[in-house]
Amino acid sequence: MVKAVVGANWGDEGKGKITDMLAKEADIIVRFQGGANAGHTIVNDYGKFALHTLPSGVFYDHTTSIIGNGVALNIPLLFKEVQDIVSKGVPEPKILVSDRAQIVMPYHILFDQYEEERLGKNSFGSTKSGIAPFYSDKYAKIGFQVSELFDEELLKEKVERICETKNVLLEHLYHKPAIQPAELLETLHQYRDMVQPFVCDVSFYLHQALKEGKEILLEGQLGTLKDPDHGIYPMVTSSSTLAAYGAIGAGVPPYEIKKVVTVCKAYSSAVGAGAFVSEIFGEEADELRKRGGDGGEFGATTGRPRRMGWFDCVASKYGCRLQGTTDVAFTVLDVLGYLDEIPVCTAYEINGEQTTEFPTTALLEKANPVIEKLPGWKCDIRGIKKYEDLPENCRKYIEFVEEKIGYPITMVSNGPGRDDIIYRNK
Ligand code: GDP
Repeated sequence: MVKAVVGANWGDEGKGKITDMLAKEADIIVRFQGGANAGHTIVNDYGKFALHTLPSGVFYDHTTSIIGNGVALNIPLLFKEVQDIVSKGVPEPKILVSDRAQIVMPYHILFDQYEEERLGKNSFGSTKSGIAPFYSDKYAKIGFQVSELFDEELLKEKVERICETKNVLLEHLYHKPAIQPAELLETLHQYRDMVQPFVCDVSFYLHQALKEGKEILLEGQLGTLKDPDHGIYPMVTSSSTLAAYGAIGAGVPPYEIKKVVTVCKAYSSAVGAGAFVSEIFGEEADELRKRGGDGGEFGATTGRPRRMGWFDCVASKYGCRLQGTTDVAFTVLDVLGYLDEIPVCTAYEINGEQTTEFPTTALLEKANPVIEKLPGWKCDIRGIKKYEDLPENCRKYIEFVEEKIGYPITMVSNGPGRDDIIYRNK
């Protein structure tokens, strides 16, 4: 069976923790999109880790971790991440890399920086990991597939061809040094030697695994609102963040995805630019940011302070709908225990009219939040294992959100650890 773990919101919902937890029962965990631009923070018996490329299943020795064809693969970073976790005592993970995954080239990272510099105040707030230039090249059909590293003649010709076009831009648009083809080819030889032991025909591997009844988890990065089609375009990421794309980015039939676990955080946070209707500022935001997540809401990749907001029922209902949610994992609820009253955004007011349907970006920019306040529970709920043992106001908050978003909350996460989870039978 295939399950997908994906985000309902802007990312940072706690997908890493939920994947790490569900991976206990899984055989294979596949990253199917995105690159090293976002990170998952995971706390387990080995310590605290920020993963950027590795799937969040690498901490078990019974699992195989796969980098699917949909991923923007930064080869040196992948291997640095493996070394990091192994140096902290995690057993050497079993890793496979799709022969159809494409490679983040050193110039993608440079172009990402140069373009953000050029855009100045109109920049996207990119993490400058090369993701947008990478996907642009993939769809412009000038990307490098892992498989191409193993055809020397093709590689040499392609490197020369691509340097020619990239160097025109470097010289005339960005006024930066040119790429030397010989140097780039040498770098690609190093990448080839690093990745060689792990290269695999992943879709075939997964096809066989499904026949054998194996349990496969597809791990998404970011969330619905960062999807290039259904998110807050153009302040989105460059690959689809939806469970449906898991079928493509891993190479499994769409009908095999039987469960879609959509991770939804009990309040909102976002990184980068773009409309954020329930955003809060000043001291109110600082307090939530400081208490949020596990040690504060700061980017796992960049360390930047995240933008904060109250729970947004409109965005989350939409976020869950586009994912095709079968189960909602409602996370980081413990953080809200300090509030007397908990504001929730229940609708948007746009041009004087209220709506609970998430609009396209131009209208979103005009939306004002309609806020309702729920009573807080004013205590620490960490360590609670049974739903009935949660304070009444806490259950009311969960049930209010569930009713507004219209999808069943079957898991409630009340701490960063693997075992900080309350299951609800729905
Ligand atoms: P991801 O990218 O969706 O995996 O999310 P991040 O890792 O960026 O952010 C989630 C943060 O919240 C991490 O620091 C987690 O350790 C932490 N976290 C996850 N679930 C919970 C929870 O239920 N309670 C608390 N306090 N922290 C959590």
